[in-house]
Amino acid sequence: MTDYSPLLIKVSDSDNVAVALRDIAENTMVMSGVLTRSPIPQAHKIALTDIAEGGSIVRYGTVLGFAKAYIPKGSWINESMIELPPSPELDDLKWATDIVPEKDLPDPPRTNWMGYRNAQGFAGTRNILAITTTVQCTAGVINAAINRIRRELLPKYPNVENVIAINHAYGCGVAINAPEAKIPIRIIRNLIRHPNFGGEIMLIGLGCEKLSYDMLLSPEEITPENVLTLQDFSGHDVMMKAILDMADKKLERLNMRKREALPLSELIIGLQCGGSDAFSGITANPCAGFASDMLVKGGATVLFSEVTEVRDGIRYLAARTRDEKTCLRLAEEMRWYDQYLESGGVGRDANPTPGNKKGGLSNIVEKAMGSIAKSGRAPIEEVLSPGERPTKRGLIYAATPASDFVCGTSQLASGICLQVFMTGRGTPYGLETAPVIKVCSRTEMKKQWYDLIDFDAGTVATGKKTIPEAGAELFNLILDIAEGKKKTYSEEYGFFNDICVFNPAPIT
Ligand code: CA
Repeated sequence: MTDYSPLLIKVSDSDNVAVALRDIAENTMVMSGVLTRSPIPQAHKIALTDIAEGGSIVRYGTVLGFAKAYIPKGSWINESMIELPPSPELDDLKWATDIVPEKDLPDPPRTNWMGYRNAQGFAGTRNILAITTTVQCTAGVINAAINRIRRELLPKYPNVENVIAINHAYGCGVAINAPEAKIPIRIIRNLIRHPNFGGEIMLIGLGCEKLSYDMLLSPEEITPENVLTLQDFSGHDVMMKAILDMADKKLERLNMRKREALPLSELIIGLQCGGSDAFSGITANPCAGFASDMLVKGGATVLFSEVTEVRDGIRYLAARTRDEKTCLRLAEEMRWYDQYLESGGVGRDANPTPGNKKGGLSNIVEKAMGSIAKSGRAPIEEVLSPGERPTKRGLIYAATPASDFVCGTSQLASGICLQVFMTGRGTPYGLETAPVIKVCSRTEMKKQWYDLIDFDAGTVATGKKTIPEAGAELFNLILDIAEGKKKTYSEEYGFFNDICVFNPAPIT
């Protein structure tokens, strides 16, 4: 049960800490018998009872860690006072012990949306021509060509919304035969086929790179209409003309795409958070979770990710996996990431960031519990490796790093056509391939960045709205943005981050 007293928010009855709703002065009676012993910054934790040395610090009904020294009631608890508990075991995870029946998920207020149907797979939310590179050497040429295409060609094709580059740092100078090279190659192969690109392939290579066309395309797809090699051309003018001619034909076909009424089963979106604070887990993420449950009940597909941010809450996710196979896949992805971090000589305490800590998040356990809230309550139908495409519908765990750009790019490769991004500290993050709705966890953030943040979930902390009310509003905003009826702020301003392909294999 969540208790909203005016100064504090406590999530679970068994919690011995609560979070300050605003900055609180020293010597304030915050709850009967609890007097602050120092000023408590907004979003930070305060001890509600005396906690002995080695005693558990409990939030979300979960042990965040153990007190390094005695913590008297009313103290500000920061990360330096908490000993991290050991990482949860992966060997004996229990599956399907917390499957919420579909009838118990919230009903979506709408079950149709206007999207761009594709011959295969999910429908698009935008109609875009993408020019992908096999290697970064061509990026300058592609960027210059895109400027000209936007000026000279795009105005002829009113149904095409944009022309964009899928430039990346992979393709050459990399150990292309290393076992883990399959990850970046899969990501690029699937980015080319993003639902917003309508099946039109435009791939530009240099000619001497390691990443060859046959690693990305099927033999039938490697045609002069789809691929162009810069080293085949003599000089700038001829090269540019070839790219513009190729783009012209693609634009002509894309221009025939029209939005049509589609069921929610044609929609695929992703969820992510970045710059989280202690409010993220009680406002923004539960609102997203509620909207996600509505989407899933309506037949849509929702991906959530970020291995390091769910790792410490893994038994809660395992309990929601539909069957043994899905649970084992979940454990496998966690184990892979444990080894990846270990080989780099870092532990899971490399996350959270300094900004997270300033926002009141003491450690990765606290961050994980808040992070998981964004996935709502629906069962987990499938688990994906980075950049894989889903084969099922519903709620899906897509394993990715937590880095905003790497997660964003990996989810795009998995096909998401919209991302909902929860933030506590604020970020202007955006993706050019698919719109990103930014949801803030505190109303102060929305006031400060009133024309950068798309949705304020802070209303849940102030008691102005309930999670179902704010969650339903967010659901409607997701569909309005998916339909192009509304644009996100990052789309309006053109605030877009670069594609960032996850490459765990060596660079040579
Ligand atoms: Ca992130």
